[in-house]
Amino acid sequence: MPQAAILLINFNSSSLIPYIEENLYKNFSLKCDLIIPRIDLSQYYSETRDQYYSTKLIEYSLTKYSEYEKILSLTDFDLYVPVLTFVFGEAQLNGKAAIVSAHRLYPEFYGLPQNDELFLSRLIKEINHELGHTYGLKHCIDFECVMHSSSNVDEIDIKSENFCNSCKQKIK
Ligand SMILES: [Zn+2]
Ligand SMILES: [Zn+2]
Repeated sequence: MPQAAILLINFNSSSLIPYIEENLYKNFSLKCDLIIPRIDLSQYYSETRDQYYSTKLIEYSLTKYSEYEKILSLTDFDLYVPVLTFVFGEAQLNGKAAIVSAHRLYPEFYGLPQNDELFLSRLIKEINHELGHTYGLKHCIDFECVMHSSSNVDEIDIKSENFCNSCKQKIK
């Protein structure tokens, strides 16, 4: 069975990890190793933006953990790429590595009460979406499909955690 590495980079919702592992097994037949990398994060941090550069974190994960079939980094840090104000995540199209930020998935980020169920469902969607890209999937026009693009949490909440049939076929 293909092995995946889950890198926990300042990811604090560790109680949710069993759900994440189960989801990776169910959707991608991946078995996971959990890794807390010893990493100097200062080089990925932008002081002016108070965010971390997702592309660089992906590069780091690839140089360190390339023996894995897939590498999923999870973080509570807010992520960016230079052309955007923020990203929920980033992935290599048809590659190994993906990263997901939980930062803007917490209802508390929007001044709303804590809601673990909602947070977990958003997190799973973002993980499936970014990992979907690593299997070569592009954005899908089916608005219920998890590969539908989302630029804010409302758009994440509208779509499902699942891949439409056409996207599911492509993963296999
Ligand atoms: Zn996408
Ligand atoms: Zn689809």
